[in-house]
Amino acid sequence: MSDKKEKNNKPFEIPRPTFPKRAVVTGGMPYGNKELHFGHVGGMLVFADTYARFLRDRIGKENVIFVSGTDCYGSPIAEGWRVKVEKGEFEGTLEDFVRRNHNKQKETLDAYGIEPNLFAASGLGRSKEIHAEVTDKFISSLHKKGQLEQISTMQFFDEKAGVFLNGRQVVGKCPVEGCCSEKGYADECDLGHQYMPEMLIDPISTLTGERPTMKPVTNWYFKLGAYEKLMKDWVETLKKRKDIRPVVWKTIDEFLKQPMIYIKRDFEEKYLAIKDQLPAHEYLEEKKKPSFTILFNELADCDAACHVLAENGIRYRTGKTLVPFRLTGNIEWGVPAPVMDGVEGLTVWVWPESLWAPISFTQTYLEQQGRDRAEWKDYWCSKDATVYQFIGQDNIYFYGIAEPAMWMAQQESAEKTADPAEGELQMPVIVANHHILFLNKKASSSGSVKPPMADDLLDYYTPEQLRMHWLEFGLGQQSVSFFPKPFNKPLLEEEAALKAEGQPINDPKFTDPVTKNALLTNVYNRMIRTAFYTLQKRFDGVLPDCAPEEKILADAKKAVLDYERQMARFAFHQCTYVLDSYIRNGSKYMAKALAKPDDLSDEEISQALANLFHIVKTAGVLLHPMAPFGTEKLRDYLQVDERIWSWDTIFEPLTYFVENGHKLKFLPPRTDFFARHESQFAQSE
Ligand SMILES: [Zn+2]
Repeated sequence: MSDKKEKNNKPFEIPRPTFPKRAVVTGGMPYGNKELHFGHVGGMLVFADTYARFLRDRIGKENVIFVSGTDCYGSPIAEGWRVKVEKGEFEGTLEDFVRRNHNKQKETLDAYGIEPNLFAASGLGRSKEIHAEVTDKFISSLHKKGQLEQISTMQFFDEKAGVFLNGRQVVGKCPVEGCCSEKGYADECDLGHQYMPEMLIDPISTLTGERPTMKPVTNWYFKLGAYEKLMKDWVETLKKRKDIRPVVWKTIDEFLKQPMIYIKRDFEEKYLAIKDQLPAHEYLEEKKKPSFTILFNELADCDAACHVLAENGIRYRTGKTLVPFRLTGNIEWGVPAPVMDGVEGLTVWVWPESLWAPISFTQTYLEQQGRDRAEWKDYWCSKDATVYQFIGQDNIYFYGIAEPAMWMAQQESAEKTADPAEGELQMPVIVANHHILFLNKKASSSGSVKPPMADDLLDYYTPEQLRMHWLEFGLGQQSVSFFPKPFNKPLLEEEAALKAEGQPINDPKFTDPVTKNALLTNVYNRMIRTAFYTLQKRFDGVLPDCAPEEKILADAKKAVLDYERQMARFAFHQCTYVLDSYIRNGSKYMAKALAKPDDLSDEEISQALANLFHIVKTAGVLLHPMAPFGTEKLRDYLQVDERIWSWDTIFEPLTYFVENGHKLKFLPPRTDFFARHESQFAQSE
């Protein structure tokens, strides 16, 4: 111990984290072509919801706006709808199709207790109108500030139908060497390889079945390349922060490099023969690698080189670098782009508009609340506020690079900065999760392993069992696989085979990992019941006017502060560990204190109950963001109002919130606060 500490006679306390006065939480934008699969919910939305609920308790629910919504536009939706109508699987307009999917997504969120202040839709209702206005302003303002440029590229054109073709409206063979995908779309294949449209092998228009031609198109692009230096500044600040996950700044950093092309060693001779036709570049030999690298100072030179290489049959891969970010396209099903410099008839590409859609949704929400739409700036453009964006790691390029650069580009001053002034769009806090896998495979609805839809899981589990299970995953650090037993075919088959042979099923691997940790359904549930039943038996349900003991208060305080510290850096799994040990220790205390309740005097049992209810209450407040249904039921039986959840009074005992002689709601025998799913009772019988 240092002298200072001894003098003060006070142990060192870790400073508590600080939170903003106001906050926006965003939970990605589920795409409007289908219902939610488990990855939307378990990989991202549960985390956004838990954090939003935590903030509501921590800084006051009037200061938190959690928005999410259906991403309505783009060619996969339009094409998905067209095909479904053609096959007779759907009747109605494209908008009907999107509305149906949006409504189903909303129902799924409700079932999981995921409760944004607004779950909007970029292409439906009032949020559509506001989003169109915001989009128009956002792009016009970038244009006025000299942040946009026109670029012409070649695009597929269906002569018979007389329209440009986008994305999935063209199918061919992927041109990337070694890729066997037959599902090559306009500029990427279903395995994620990207290429120039003119490279696609045997393209066919899905509209007419004809081979499309190529025509030049002009689009608006944001000058993303100009932000390399500022993005580097920003990355430096991110690296120093404990709340920013390394995957975020590492992924951003990968793009902050000069333009380069990788060429396979097999093509080295061909390259040497034509290298003088290429724009000025630097050659890196890299003898030990299977490819060599050529470096360019200018992106335009790199692009020109790609064309020369392609014309000469040299296969190559381009390195990551900041390239102009396309804002517009010519997909009919999109937000109209403003007419600028006489360029008409364009719509906005779905990715950029989905980045400012949360601003549109914030305004929509404020208007719904009868507040001034202009208040959105208090949430997005104030140093007193923070915007937390929960995303999957695959989207870091958009949320972590394109978005912050566009935000900086909107600054009034010609001198842009990565530390925006008050009143300017502030840099977001990006909370990126690693992949949630299904049976150890990266789940994709188009892949061979079909992940379950979010709704299907609710046939076997309660929403809170699933929420708690996913929160334990630690997706902030690594990809984790989800193994729900009822959906784990290989395991079920193995179990059935053993049963058929009359073998015992006692290997722990046959235990369902989702229900294995029965912290809530078993330990905490029993603790609450015991507290209630004992109180009912001894004091007719009236809370004794007795303070918890110092040791109990100190343990609670420690759990609260640990949890807060972990939550401030989005370490949800660590928060569940804090709760786990706090509740299990509480259970041990209960077993000891109430071992022989009938032998205890009224005074002794009053003290034990005061202690026990403080543990129940503290655990309940910490669980409230994670398990909203069960904890609200607890609040109902405690007969207290919502102030119980507030962190302003989190260290106070239950008696602080009620009058003397407060009576709890009668708890009938065998009442569950955190029930198991009915299918799990059937199993155990
Ligand atoms: Zn491919």
